[in-house]
Amino acid sequence: MHRRAITRRSSLVGLLLVTAAAACSGGRTSPVAAPAPGTTGSRASRMGIPVVEAFDRAVAQGTRTRTGSPGPRYWQQWTDYRLQAELNPISKRLTGQGALTYHNRSPDTLEEVYVHLLHNLFAPGARHNTDVPWSVEGVELSRVAAQGQALAAGKREGPGYAVDGTIMRIRLPKPLPPGESLALDFSWKLRIPPDGAPRGGQDGEAFFISYWYPQMAVYDDLGGWQIDQYLGNAEFYLGYGNYDVALTLPAGWLVTSTGRLLNPEEVLSAQTRARLDSASHAKGIVRVVTEPDRAAGTSTAAGTGGKLTWRFRADTVRDVSWATSAKYLWDATNAEVGDANGDGSPDTAAVHSFYRPEQRASHWGESARFSRHSVEFFSRYLLPYPYPHMTAVDGPTSCGGMEFPMMTCIGGQWDTLGLYEVTTHEIGHMWFPMMVGSDEKRYAWMDEGLTQFGQSQAIADMFKGYDDEAKNRRAYLSLAEGGTEVELMRHGDRYPTYASYGIASYYKPATVLVALRGVLGRETFNQAFREYAQRWRYKHPSPSDLFNTFESVSGRDLDWFWRTWFYETWKLDQAIDNVTTTGDSLEIVVENRGRAVMPVRLAVTRTDGQVDSLTVPAEAWFDGERKRIVRVAAAPAVKSIDIDPDREFPDVDRSNQIWPR
Ligand SMILES: [Zn+2]
Repeated sequence: MHRRAITRRSSLVGLLLVTAAAACSGGRTSPVAAPAPGTTGSRASRMGIPVVEAFDRAVAQGTRTRTGSPGPRYWQQWTDYRLQAELNPISKRLTGQGALTYHNRSPDTLEEVYVHLLHNLFAPGARHNTDVPWSVEGVELSRVAAQGQALAAGKREGPGYAVDGTIMRIRLPKPLPPGESLALDFSWKLRIPPDGAPRGGQDGEAFFISYWYPQMAVYDDLGGWQIDQYLGNAEFYLGYGNYDVALTLPAGWLVTSTGRLLNPEEVLSAQTRARLDSASHAKGIVRVVTEPDRAAGTSTAAGTGGKLTWRFRADTVRDVSWATSAKYLWDATNAEVGDANGDGSPDTAAVHSFYRPEQRASHWGESARFSRHSVEFFSRYLLPYPYPHMTAVDGPTSCGGMEFPMMTCIGGQWDTLGLYEVTTHEIGHMWFPMMVGSDEKRYAWMDEGLTQFGQSQAIADMFKGYDDEAKNRRAYLSLAEGGTEVELMRHGDRYPTYASYGIASYYKPATVLVALRGVLGRETFNQAFREYAQRWRYKHPSPSDLFNTFESVSGRDLDWFWRTWFYETWKLDQAIDNVTTTGDSLEIVVENRGRAVMPVRLAVTRTDGQVDSLTVPAEAWFDGERKRIVRVAAAPAVKSIDIDPDREFPDVDRSNQIWPR
């Protein structure tokens, strides 16, 4: 999901433009002593991170490792979905049937299973912590069956099901042993909520259909069933599966969905198919459906009985969403994604954009170009985009910007930079959490923070010189300075304010990753970031897996870093306390005034233009020491001293980092 940036004008803006002169030690640098081996004994208690018992157990059982790779006995569940739905755009009613095959790949026998009914967020009386449209209605189930046996609701014993909010618990007719599969059948109805619903809904013209079918909850090696309620704020933890979907709509309504369209000959006109075909190898944007084309028989096929059934197939995804409107224009192009299927030759993905003509004022005519850039950028920066298409949809305003596999719903008005930003943010989510399937509820930073960081990289590539990282840093610092910050390692529904959730999930982790890149160096950081994505593609990483991957790739113990930035709300305030000349050397007293521990990077610039670069290692502060003396040669004369000359660390007070002040 995308957040409109919270920004505060800050005196730091000017300083962010300072760039470091080329570093040159010139043989005049006094090495800064690192602590001798063995002197960091108190580190574990002072700078260690909490033991995660579930993780230790997983390591003992061989499902995870201490190097950040999945363990040799790693397992996860899998579900095959066959879903069909018919939507009546007048009544806004959706009627659905689903046949699920749930494969138990765990070593455990399951006597019950859990299913999400996320649409119950809209049931009258539902618990929620975000605004939802007043009293729509929840999911109306007309059939629930397991192992071929129809189940009744509310029975206290024996096979049956019970719905509590957005979670359904199913007690199975017979236990499901390891290695066996379970058939589940559902029939249901629901009403698509009006604008104002988080992450989807309809505004009378455009329908974005999300959370519309019974979806298996995750059962994993760390915590068993993850069945936290969907309350509106914290997002999701979803398992992987394959989907066959059939969607029936009035002819003339364009439909786009997660997955590959299987029957274009049945649902699209010959003209639309021909234009789509040219878009698959076009260099520019192809206008597939324009204003006069929007009619049954011209954009879509004519249909039988006024209806068309669109069939989609999606492989290895964690969800399926779809959108439809009779008003949509359709733009298309393609993106070069590198070798996505491993056959040694470059692949492309289709890029689609669906929007109403009036959204040209919000630059939707550029949407396909923005999407193409984003897909190509992240394919280079992280891993090749593996899915058949990436589609941006103009949806109800309350979509804001929301990610679904191969899809994003974007609502509201945007300027050029804003539309690019929200588009690239949501496309960044195709990597986290769509490909790298973390638990968004408990660790929102694992998808939002990584994506917010990635967004900055994409924006800098698209709009050369635009510093989105500085924007994230200012948002984090504004809350940190106010003292109302809350740590990152907290469930997304347990933040006291929306601002504290936003900072901990988006701006602080994005800022912290920039700082980590500063600590490790760009090359090592990028390598570790990619390695993490590669190792956990289509899997369920926990924070320990991310931490351990960065440590194993960099070859460094970074517990102090995780502790400082993920588990605490310690602030960084590195300062030059004093500078004096003693004989032929200059003594620089460096002070760590905050509780955060980080290396101190010093740039000493001399009147002859030479710059000495020195580092006080982070370990200097582990035992609570506050000051360190750094000695450099006094001649040639020192013109200025600067801490963190590259402006990579989120220091709360830049003014005390420069000498002379
Ligand atoms: Zn997001």
